[in-house]
Amino acid sequence: MTVLVFLDSAYPDGRIADAGQPQLKVTDTGITRGDGIFETMLAVQGAPRKLQAHLARLATSAEALELDVPASSVWERAITTALAEADDDGELVVKLVATRGEEGAGATAWVQVSPLPKELRGQRLKVLLLDRGYDSTVAQRAPWLLMGAKTLSYAVNMAALRYARAHGADDVIFTSSDGKVLEGPTSTVLIARVADGVKRLITPQLESGILPGTSQGALFATAREAGWELGYGPLVPEDLFTADGVWLISSVRLLAEVESIDGKPVATSPELTKELGALVDAVS
Ligand code: PLP
Repeated sequence: MTVLVFLDSAYPDGRIADAGQPQLKVTDTGITRGDGIFETMLAVQGAPRKLQAHLARLATSAEALELDVPASSVWERAITTALAEADDDGELVVKLVATRGEEGAGATAWVQVSPLPKELRGQRLKVLLLDRGYDSTVAQRAPWLLMGAKTLSYAVNMAALRYARAHGADDVIFTSSDGKVLEGPTSTVLIARVADGVKRLITPQLESGILPGTSQGALFATAREAGWELGYGPLVPEDLFTADGVWLISSVRLLAEVESIDGKPVATSPELTKELGALVDAVS
């Protein structure tokens, strides 16, 4: 069952709405232009994971779009209402959405809580490298492209995933036109290198215009405490093939090991996947 709670100034804890009924006007700019932002997080036993990191990224996305969204405390109250209404002790997907709303009327914002999609976890991924079509310095040159903001305009990301599935793969790692590894359509790329007893976890550098992953950020914090060295790109495709392990990480699917890229096997390590998986689970 999906629970819907609108952020509405007349309802301090949010206004519960029927997810089975139409709730938005067709003229909402979130629909007509994909003009808005979102966050997706996991809730476990009624508690959202990494809530502050998601709210902080929502605020950064809102700033990039010059979108006036409700304060974090208002989102928090609506999330609490939605999770209480869902009343589920297991795992749930919590989505926060804010659109620019009707022309001139201010943002439309809501929280949606839904069941976890089935068969999401523990999969080993076949991945395709796909060209994202811009170079890795575009974020600095062209702020209007909203690189690094989590906007509603995910049609390209979804098209890349469909392309991968049509070509026998499960997921995608985007590359820049100057040959750098970027991110997945809905995930952050991680590689591990182990040498002389030193374990190193590396992710592409944020300056390449990728979304700062809250899962990668939280994992890096716990991995550092567990003795891992950390590194931030730049990475090129060759680095993926010479790594001791490659993963895609995100808030709902969590850590997913990559087994092949463009049909070529990459190193896999059940030990490293188990160790990193435990560090991911330790994040609250
Ligand atoms: N990169 C992109 C483009 C994403 O859409 C996502 C999540 O959906 C991520 C990275 C991973 O972010 P997070 O770990 O915060 O879920």
